Amino acid sequence: MKRVAVSACLLGEKCRYDGSDNCNALLIEALANDTIIPFCPEDFAFATPRPTMDLVETADGIRAISSLTGEDLSAPVIRYAHDFFDSHGDIDLFVGKDRSPSCGVKSARIYDAQKRVLDSSGKGLMAQEAENRGIASWDAEEFVKAYKGHL
Ligand code: SF4
Repeated sequence: MKRVAVSACLLGEKCRYDGSDNCNALLIEALANDTIIPFCPEDFAFATPRPTMDLVETADGIRAISSLTGEDLSAPVIRYAHDFFDSHGDIDLFVGKDRSPSCGVKSARIYDAQKRVLDSSGKGLMAQEAENRGIASWDAEEFVKAYKGHL
């Protein structure tokens, strides 16, 4: 049995910026025999509902910038990611919500200061920390595709 960290919105938690979820029944089915450890850095850091944020290439590297205020929101997300992985040191797998600036594994959009897309295969801040710790990571859509291939 694997221990799998999963974006909470994929499990049906209403923690998206607008109070909705991204419930993915096939993903839940695919993980039925595993131990699921949900996480949501943005709900923890900013509560729900909340303004959206984008990953922006800056002089200080890729930062999460509020689309409402332009404030750099990276620090609390990165802190949550550190604390989460420190307190769950035995995670085998990370499954993140596609395209999220926090959770996307290779699907997050990176923008420049003029809001032009530089890259659509970026890594969210929480997914980056999973990679830093050597945890195998998947975007949920790819994970479900691989699971369907084994049905
Ligand atoms: S994608 Fe990540 S940060 Fe966004 S709602 Fe889902 S778990 Fe939370």
